[in-house]
Amino acid sequence: MKNVAIIGAGITGLSSAFYAQKNGNSVKIFEKMDRVGGVMHSVHKNGFIFETGPSTGSVSLPEVTELYEDLGIKDLLEEAPSVAGNRYILKHGKLRPLPSGLVSGLTTPLFSWKDKFGMPFEPFRKRGTDPNENLSTMVRRRLGQSILDYAIDPFVSGVYAGNPDVMIPKYALPKLYNLEQDHGSFIRGAIAKMKEPKPERNKKATKKVFSTKGGLSVLAEHLEQAIGKENFVLGKNPVVVPENGKYKILAGEDSYGPFDNVIFTAGASHVFEALPCAQEKFPGASEVLYAKVSEVAIGFKKWEGVPLNGFGALMPSKEHRNILGILYMSTLFENRAPKGGALLSVFVGGLRHPDFMDLPEDKFREMVSKDVADIMQIPHMEPDLFEVTHHAEAIPQYDLKTPVREEAYKGIEKEYPGILMGGNGIDGIGMAKRIAQGRDLANRV
Ligand SMILES: Cc1cc2nc3c(=O)[nH]c(=O)nc-3n(C[C@H](O)[C@H](O)[C@H](O)COP(=O)(O)OP(=O)(O)OC[C@H]3O[C@@H](n4cnc5c(N)ncnc54)[C@H](O)[C@@H]3O)c2cc1C
Repeated sequence: MKNVAIIGAGITGLSSAFYAQKNGNSVKIFEKMDRVGGVMHSVHKNGFIFETGPSTGSVSLPEVTELYEDLGIKDLLEEAPSVAGNRYILKHGKLRPLPSGLVSGLTTPLFSWKDKFGMPFEPFRKRGTDPNENLSTMVRRRLGQSILDYAIDPFVSGVYAGNPDVMIPKYALPKLYNLEQDHGSFIRGAIAKMKEPKPERNKKATKKVFSTKGGLSVLAEHLEQAIGKENFVLGKNPVVVPENGKYKILAGEDSYGPFDNVIFTAGASHVFEALPCAQEKFPGASEVLYAKVSEVAIGFKKWEGVPLNGFGALMPSKEHRNILGILYMSTLFENRAPKGGALLSVFVGGLRHPDFMDLPEDKFREMVSKDVADIMQIPHMEPDLFEVTHHAEAIPQYDLKTPVREEAYKGIEKEYPGILMGGNGIDGIGMAKRIAQGRDLANRV
């Protein structure tokens, strides 16, 4: 049994604490806010349940389902209905379905004929040789400009609030990068992957969109309860001090430890708040570019706009809109809006418009309302809920700074045995990746 300290009580920290404890260790979690969950936060207001941070996750790894199972709350795992497979992209002011098969791929007005007819030749195009190539160049080279503009660009702003000119596939999309590197082509690689035998456990990765019944905070609350409230130190900034091969933690007036292990799970910009001892030797650990995101929950008790039959809609850069995307939350999950009403989650800012969150409140509201009313064809834009949450450090970008950060994290682990480095600065940002990393860190103890 080891004495383990965890820095940060977001989904990564909570998962690592839960599994470290399950493995027989004793845990203490240090969180600077006075609540658990990190950016994961659900709010009940006026008959709506909205998220101020992540709205959904993807069951892309078995660890997601297993976390709910291991917590004994499998019944609370809420997977979106199959209609969530419909995704819309704005082109010339109209929402167009993103093609999902051969026929829709050929008939879609989203892509040019040149790129549609060029698709069968993708396997014969030359393999990329530059590991630092950005996503735009890679996609233009293999698939064509229109696919970059009307599929990849909106995807990147929808998931990372990012920019494909800045994103480096080797770090941000390693699976895609490796398809080309290992098989010479996305299509050939995808076919080879489909043929590979899969372990039975992978069946738990349904690829569906998920949340927790009642909102993602319910998952955080269950984790907090399972770990034991007495094992949390909330509302204080912890400082880790190496001492005789172990670690002491100072938080406020109090000192805790000694700990055999310290698991760091806060964001990359916070490394040296908790680990000042590592700053001089490993400055690269907090080299990170964040996308700013404003998340706007817009609720209507009576919905009069376009049918909300899908996951949501994304706005390509080429369309020059102020908003990045809209998620149809009340379609995805139950009880998010009163019956007959709707809840939308609208994303604004990102690397495209980093200054929008500095606009005066009324200007910001007017700008968002105008875009949403127009795109969703809402005749009377008089919502019953309009809640804005600004995140100045929302999504870390997996750009050219990533290898610098990764090297520094590895250096810290080597210099300070027992310290384990995690958080969304490495290994991906999605909820599934966060849960899997938390569990992996616990197993490394
Ligand atoms: C607006 C927004 C929308 C998103 N949407 C989605 C989505 O739809 N789907 C998806 O899969 N992902 C989404 N993401 C990404 C995903 O939510 C995050 O990557 C994930 O929740 C991060 O979890 P975490 O535990 O690693 O970090 P966090 O949730 O950031 O938790 C880190 C914790 O560490 C604490 N902390 C910081 N510094 C210190 C310190 N010095 N000492 C102690 N504690 C500290 C913080 O207070 C925080 O509680 C979204 C993110 C944002 C911001």
